[in-house]
This record gives sequence, structure tokens and C-alpha cells, in this order.
Amino acid sequence: MENKQYVYLFTEGNAKMKNLLGGKGANLAEMTGLGIPIPQGFTVTTEACNKYYNDGRVLAQEVKEEIRKAMANIEEVTGKTFGGQTNPLLVSVRSGARASMPGMMDTILNLGLNDETVEVLARETGNERFAYDSYRRFIQMFADVVMEIEKKNFEHIMDHMKEAKGVHLDTELDANDLKELVRKFKEFYSRAKGQEFPQDPEEQLIESVTAVFRSWDNPRANVYRRLNDIPYSWGTAVNVQAMVFGNKGETSGTGVAFSRNPSTGEDKIFAEYLMNAQGEDVVAGIRTPFPIEELNKQMPEVYQQFVSIVDTLEKHYRDMQDMEFTIEEGKLYFLQTRNGKRTAQAALKIAVDLVEEGLNTKEEALLKVDPKQLDTLLHPAFDEAAMQNAQVIAQGLPASPGAATGKIAFTAAEAKERVEKGEKVILVRLETSPEDIEGMIAAEGILTVRGGMTSHAAVVARGMGTCCVAGCGSIVVNEANRTVKAGDKLYTDQDYISLDGSTGNVYGAQIATVDPEISGDFGTFMSWADEVRVLKVRTNSDTPHDTEQAVRFGAEGIGLTRTEHMFFGEDRIPAMREMIVSRTVEARKKALDKILPMQKADFKGIYEALEGRPATIRFLDPPLHEFLPTHESDIVALAKDMEMEVQELKDIITSLHEFNPMMGHRGCRLAVTYPEIAEMQTRAIIEAALEVRKEKGLNIVPELMIPLVGEVKEMKYIKDIVVRTADSIIKQSGEDMKYSVGTMIEIPRAAITADEIAREAEFFSFGTNDLTQMTFGFSRDDAGNFLKDYYEKKIYEFDPFQKVDQTGVGRLVEIAVELGRKTRPDIKLGVCGEHGGDPSSVEFFHKTGLDYVSCSPFRVPLARLAAAQAQIKFPREKK
Ligand code: PEP
Ligand code: MG
Repeated sequence: MENKQYVYLFTEGNAKMKNLLGGKGANLAEMTGLGIPIPQGFTVTTEACNKYYNDGRVLAQEVKEEIRKAMANIEEVTGKTFGGQTNPLLVSVRSGARASMPGMMDTILNLGLNDETVEVLARETGNERFAYDSYRRFIQMFADVVMEIEKKNFEHIMDHMKEAKGVHLDTELDANDLKELVRKFKEFYSRAKGQEFPQDPEEQLIESVTAVFRSWDNPRANVYRRLNDIPYSWGTAVNVQAMVFGNKGETSGTGVAFSRNPSTGEDKIFAEYLMNAQGEDVVAGIRTPFPIEELNKQMPEVYQQFVSIVDTLEKHYRDMQDMEFTIEEGKLYFLQTRNGKRTAQAALKIAVDLVEEGLNTKEEALLKVDPKQLDTLLHPAFDEAAMQNAQVIAQGLPASPGAATGKIAFTAAEAKERVEKGEKVILVRLETSPEDIEGMIAAEGILTVRGGMTSHAAVVARGMGTCCVAGCGSIVVNEANRTVKAGDKLYTDQDYISLDGSTGNVYGAQIATVDPEISGDFGTFMSWADEVRVLKVRTNSDTPHDTEQAVRFGAEGIGLTRTEHMFFGEDRIPAMREMIVSRTVEARKKALDKILPMQKADFKGIYEALEGRPATIRFLDPPLHEFLPTHESDIVALAKDMEMEVQELKDIITSLHEFNPMMGHRGCRLAVTYPEIAEMQTRAIIEAALEVRKEKGLNIVPELMIPLVGEVKEMKYIKDIVVRTADSIIKQSGEDMKYSVGTMIEIPRAAITADEIAREAEFFSFGTNDLTQMTFGFSRDDAGNFLKDYYEKKIYEFDPFQKVDQTGVGRLVEIAVELGRKTRPDIKLGVCGEHGGDPSSVEFFHKTGLDYVSCSPFRVPLARLAAAQAQIKFPREKK
């Protein structure tokens, strides 16, 4: 029989065992190997987590048995006894997945305390206050994370006590107060749970390990995983580690450290600490911590040792580290290390610096930046002119850079709801907690009253690239009255505020923003990505403005222009409507004649913005009724324009109704019915190209793309119109201009008959939006409503409209690539669905052998980096 090991001592593992031990566990083992002072402990593996779920959410006997054995080992190493009457061993319990996941259960400290061991601890340390302080923290954490009794209940009890004693700080409560607090906490616990607080340390431990495993499946963790491409099947590990105490008095303390500044990337240790405190005090932001430089004054030797360990760890991992440490009665311990989360600015500076310092190769540096993060660098900053008049109403810590402006929202749920209704909001909280994740994602920016640079709000906001100002103690938030007071002015949920996440400034008004530039470290870094990648990156753009933007972001051409998007404007839509409701070819041609110059002008603008880069322009695609008037006044106006009876027009509109428009009269089907539309669009595309060639001397080779083809004869029918029209225009012009005609592959039938279609099509562009819709049979517009049930039931873990479904939709892409190349070996292949801007999908398209991906302008840098990373991981021959 297979004999699996579910528990590993820190002395048994190393950094390479991350999949099994989780990031935290693998690093604790690695640090143990490096001889860094680590309180010893063990890791319950991710396989034990998977087993827990496979066994129907029970912790197997054999796992419990291994935990017991490992505990005995730790007792031996520390010389302490778990639950002992002398020298009791206390432990911390922490979750630790392969990738760090703030959505999960975090930490339980001081486990092993009960009514007896607390007395022993008090006696042996001669510090009753410390012992009871530790016990009350344990009860609170255990109740919160294991038994799901909200933390705030305990905070209220504590606040009452402080009020009754007339004190402000937790540290001002004495031993007797804390004893009384413990009594009250336990009483509350047993009332809330209908059972006494568990006194058996082993039971406490098993319950806690189980709770960590359970937390892998809590709603927050599921949301976080979906957002960060973390598969459910990875599971989490649990780390059990002997406690050291930062709250043993004035020679003890605890803190968090980054080996470089996580906000700016500056090569200088950035750390904060608190004396006489436990880790949660620093992270929860209840007390504002000191900068580490203070430690050099208080304990110079400890400070020196600290600096040297930080340096060792950074050099060892060859990346910026995020560490936790504790000083127990003058002795320094490290509790964990990991590659630190950082802002996009910091990520780029660190990547470029690490290469310059010779610590990383360019390839290694390219792999260190999450492509999704680049997005934050591309979004607007405050307009300098608008800033001249802006009034700073408060200042907090610059926790996550960027500029944000919006109305005030007081809870995460409210933020989410208002954003869904189209508002822009700033989430204003005393402090945030993991439950707030969805509101934090939705908000433009986050402002907290409490907490340092490493508070929950700061860490999560930096991870998401959302602007955040933390620890803004000068404002008063009244959640009940829904007001924010800054100076003597009150702000409500209808008032705008603005945040500058780089300075920590808060402004009491809406401030205009401006577009960003790619330069400095960003420019250097992206140039490395371009050196490496083989997949080209184009953009989806329908206007000269967006095209210019995309070219600035590095787009190498246009992969998709949706021509219909140009006709939603008020000045344009009447001509379009006229075309749609025309009853005769003559009437339609008349309307098309009005449209032609508008399209031509748009295309000229786009060609000019591209400065000779290629452009794929797609023929009219959407169901026509999208353009029809619905308001009575518009209908009356259109009837008048067309010299038609209102009722006649209404009848036409009714006749255009479709039950299933997404599968109705759209795409190339429109051109089959109305070839004159294809004719007009060909004319606009070709004439515009000829004119720009002449006027600007640009060598333009238009790519005309037919959408929604499912059958080669359909393709041929329209292509013949295109070729006939284009050739005659070109001939007339006396120029020698080339062009190509291709199709989108967005219907499963097209994918599986791609060999036939390639006889006519000179290029394929995969329209993975429709291809996903038609392969799953999920409506693009409605799937969001029921997919959440699929996530909950783990039928699907990701939205297939965001991240390409490699098994089904991806298989069709592979088939079409293979068949298309069989007929036409040099066929050009690209993708223009939304997936072209999703990193894991880009990797898939790289592996599939496509020539390019095309995505919205703001995703171009992301796709460039994702393409480089794909090439580093899965090298493809450079053409
Ligand atoms: C697609 O279907 O993937 C596509 C790019 O076209 P549209 O989104 O315009 O249907
Ligand atoms: Mg489509």
C-alpha cells in the first residue's frame, strides 16, 4: 500500500517543495537549511488538504497521527511540552498555499493556552500580564477564524473595558483587567457557540488545522483564486510553528519587513515594527508602527543582525523579500519570508535593478512581473493643471500609487453595488479586512483611517493595483451617519473625493486625470520583452484616438476594427438606420452612399495613426436591430427623413425582430442578403488606403475580414464581391496596391472545416468571444448570471469568456490551425477575441503557434509581456 507522508518537519523540506508544502512551508524549510533563526515547526501538506476534501471534508486519522508525531518532535527540539504543567509549548497555525492568498484564513497565535497553561506561563515568565494578554488574543483568534464568531464582538468587549477603566491603549490594561477580559471572552464564546472554549490543546490544534483546510473553499478565497488564476486543485498547506513572543515586555517586539521598498522599488529595506506586541497588531493597523531605523537606536545589535539576514534572504531568493520577524527578550527570530508583493512601479524598478546588479538575467526579471499588474501603469494620473487648484483635505500613507476619484462608499457591499450601477466610488473604511475584497476590487480607490504600509488594505490594494491611501488618522469616519469629517467639513456619500496613492494626499473634490506614458524603467523592461517574444501583438481599435494610444503602448498593428462601432454616434446613426430599413436596393444604396464618406474618413484616420502598420478591418457584424430607434420621437423623425408613414416604419422595425439575434441575421449573413453593404465597405477600405498612400507615402496593405463565416461557399460569395470591387478601384487608380481577404473563425463549423475555408481565406482571426459562446452554447450577454453557480459548484473555475477554455474552445483553435495550414501553409493566424489580452490565454495561443494576438489598447503591454513569458517558458522557433 502507498504510504504517503502528510506532515513534514521544517528540517525535512526545502524551497523546491512548494507544491507540496505551500510557499510559506517551503520557505520555512529553506530558511531552516540556511541556518536563519526560525522557531521550529512542521507543515501539513497540500495533499493532506486535497485528501480532506476527497474524504468529504474530514481530517483523516493518519494525518492526525502524523501531526501528533510531529508535535512530539517539536516538543523535543524546543524542550517544551504541549499542554505541559511546566514549560508549555505554544504554537502558531497559519495557512500557506502555493501562491500567497490573502482571501484565506490567516493566523492563529498562542495555541496551546488554556486555563492551566496560562497560569504556568504567568508563573514561569513572572509576567502575568503577558500570559493573559496572550490568552485573550488566542481566544479571540480561535473564535474568529476557527469558529467564525466575528472578531468585532470581542473588540467591543475590550472597548467597554477600556472605557470603564478610563484608558485608551490596550497596553494600559493590567494583568487583572486581562484576566477579567479572558473570563468575559470565554463567557461570550460559550454563549455564542453553546459549548465551552476548548481546553484540550490537541483538540485546539486539530480544529485549527481543519479550519485552514476549510478556508480554502470560503467565498473570498474562491473570488481571489478566480481573479488570480489559481486552480482549486492546488489546495493549501498548514504551518504549525513554535511561538516566540513579541509581547513579553519592552525588549520584545514584532514587525514586517521588505528587502526593498514595495511601493517605489527603492533599494532600501522598508520595515515597520512595534515593541511589546504580537504580529496581528502591526498588520491590523490598530497601533501605528515605527520605522525600522528606530530599532537601530533601541537595539543596535539586533538591528545589525536583522539587516544582515534580510540581505542574505534577498540574495538567496534573488528577489525582493517580504518577511515577518519577532524579537523575544532581545533575541531575533524570522517567522516567514516570501517574494514580496509590490506595486507595478516597484516591480519594474526592482526587475531592472536586479538585472543591473547582476542578480537576475533579463529572462528571470521578465518572469518576475505579473503582466496583469502593468495595467495600473497605463491608467490616468491627475492632470497637473487641475491639481493647481486642488485642496488637500487630509494626508495618509501612500500605500498604493495611482490617482483615483469617486464618490464616498462606506462599506464593501455598498461599493460593489454602486459600481455595478455605473458609479465610480472610493471605499472609505476605518480599516479593511479580507471580507471587503469584492468592494475593494470594485472601488476606484481605497482610503483607510487606521493601519500602516503593511496593513491589509495596503497589501491587498498594491496586489490589485488599486490606488490606496492608508492610516489617514486625521479624518473621522462615522459609519452610522455615513459621513466623513476632514477639518471642519463633512462629506457624504454624494460627495466626491480624490486620492493620490503616491503622496498619500486626499482631496475634497473630483480631479481630472491624464493619460500615462511608457518611459524609464517601464520602457527598458518592455524593450526586453520585445527582444524575447515571437508572438506579435496587435490591438482592437475602432478610432484614430485609440489607435494612437495603442501604438504608444507598443501595438504592432490592428487585429480588429469593428466598423459598426463608428455608427453609434448621434450624427451617424440616422444614415445607418436609413440603410437598415430601406425596402429596395436603390434606397439602400442611397443610404450607403451617405455612409461611405464617413467610413472612408474613419479608415484614413486609422491608417494614419498606424503609420504603415497593418490593419485588419472587419465588415459589419452585429444584428441590425441594435441600430434601430426605440423612442417614438426617433421613429417619427426617421419616418419623416425617409418620406415614409410612421406605421410603415414601425412595421419594418417589428419585422426585423429576432428571437435569438446573436445567432440571427448578423455577420457575413448580412452581406449575403445585402451584397451592396460589402461593396460599400470594400470601397471605403480600399479608397481610404489609396488616398493615404498617396498623401502620406505610407505602404498600406489592407486586410479585409469577413465575420461569422461557417461555410466556405459563404466566404467565397463575399470574397468575390470584395475582389471584384477592390480590383476595379485599384485598376482605376493606376496604383499597384496589394490587399488580402480573410475571415474570422468564430463558429465551430468554421474551425472544423478550416481546410476548406482556407482555400478562400488568406488569413484567420479567431473570434474567441463568439467561438466560446457557440462552443459552450452560453450567451455572451447572459452567462454571467448563472456562471457564479458553476463556480460555486466547481463545475467551472474560471469565466471562459475571460480565460480561454483550452480543452474545448482551445481544441477547436488547434484543429483550425492545423487544417488551415494544411491547405495554405503560409496562412496568417491571429486572435482578436477578449482572450488576446489575458495572460494565460496568450500563453496558450503562443503554444498553439499563432502569429499574433490582438487586444484592447490598454492591454497591449500586458500581452507583450505575457508573450515574452510564454516564449521563455515554452520556446518557439523565431521566424
Ligand atoms: C469575437 O467574437 O471574438 C470577436 C472578436 O468579435 P465580436 O466580439 O465583435 O463579436
Ligand atoms: Mg464575433
